[in-house]
Amino acid sequence: MDIERKLIKRASLGKLVEQLRAEGKVVLAPKKKKNVVFFEPINTIDEMSTDYIATTQSPKAAAFPKSDRILKFENGKEGIKFEGQPTSVYPETVVLGLRPCDATGFDSLTAIFNWDYKDQLYNDRLAKTTFIGISCASCDAYCFCTSVKGGPGNTHGTDILLTAVDGGDFLAEIVSEKGKKLAVSGQQYFEADSGADKEKFLANVPVKFDVDTLVPKAQNSFESPVWLEQSLRCIGCGACAYVCPTCACFDMQDETTGSKGQRVRCWDSCGFGLFTLHTSGHNPREVQSARWRQRVLHKFSYMPERLNVVGCIGCGRCSRACPVDMNLSEHLVNLAEA
Ligand code: SF4
Ligand code: SF4
Repeated sequence: MDIERKLIKRASLGKLVEQLRAEGKVVLAPKKKKNVVFFEPINTIDEMSTDYIATTQSPKAAAFPKSDRILKFENGKEGIKFEGQPTSVYPETVVLGLRPCDATGFDSLTAIFNWDYKDQLYNDRLAKTTFIGISCASCDAYCFCTSVKGGPGNTHGTDILLTAVDGGDFLAEIVSEKGKKLAVSGQQYFEADSGADKEKFLANVPVKFDVDTLVPKAQNSFESPVWLEQSLRCIGCGACAYVCPTCACFDMQDETTGSKGQRVRCWDSCGFGLFTLHTSGHNPREVQSARWRQRVLHKFSYMPERLNVVGCIGCGRCSRACPVDMNLSEHLVNLAEA
C-alpha cells in the first residue's frame, strides 16, 4: 500500500498508548534500568525511555520469547497425556520504539521459522503484533545498517514509523494495513502532515562495506584462516546471540514437577561448545573458531543462499555486548576486502 503521512504530537502519542492499553493490548516499549534498555510492558508513555541508540536487547522476544511453552504433559494411570499450547492466549501486542533495523530483523526470523516447517507459535505471535518504529536521529560507531541495505529512516517492516521532526513532534508514516487499522482506531490523535523533510532529521550512518561483494566472498571462505585469526579472543559466552535480533538458535527442555510438566523452547547459541556436542562425545564444531565461522557464515552465506535474505541488520548489538570487544563490522570489512 502507499505510505500515508500524518503528524502525531508527543502528548497525543501518550494518549494513543493509553487507548491501546484500554483496548486490552500489551504495549512493549524500551525501559531503562541502570545501563541496559529492554522492551517491557508499559502502562503510560512516561515509563518509556528515549535515551538509547539501540536497545540492549532486541524486540525479537515479541514473536520469539526467551522461553516459550510448547506443550504440557501429565503422566497418569492411562499413560502420558499431552496438551499443545493454544496460541489463542497470545495477547494483541504493540511494540513501540523499535528501530528501523529491528523491524527488518523480523524478515530473517520469519524466513527461518517458515523454511521447511511453518512455526505456528512464532507466526501467530507475529500476526498479533503491530510495530510502531522510531527512526534513528543518531548512531554510534557500532551501527552499520546502511552496509546491509537498511537505513535510519527505513520504513520496511514497521507498521507505522515515527520520525521526530521540528519541535519534537513526530512525522507518522503509516506503512501497512495493520498500521492503518491502528491509526484509524486512534484517528483523533493523528493530524495533517506538516510536510517536514524527514531526511533532515535522520542519523548519518556510514556505509562500511559492500554486502554484494561480501556475500560471495563469505560463500568461498569456509577453509580460510581468517576464522581462527578473528576468533582467538572469543570466549564463547553467547552474549552476541542473546542480544541479536536475528539469531534463532533454540533448545528444547522438559521441566517436570512430580507427574506433570511442560516442554519449553529456550534461546540457545551456536557459539556454545555444548550446542553441537553429540551424545557420543563427538563435536562437529570442536573449537571456537568453527563456532565463530558458523555464526558469521550462517548470516552472510547460508541464509542468503537458502532463504534469500542476509541474516544481519547491522544493529551492532553483538559488538556492544561482547565482553572481549569482538567488533563484527570490522571483521566483515576485512572479509569483504580480503
Ligand atoms: S549479528 Fe550483530 S549486528 Fe548483525 S543483527 Fe545480530 S546483533 Fe545486530
Ligand atoms: S559476545 Fe564476544 S566473546 Fe561472547 S561469544 Fe560472542 S563474540 Fe564470543
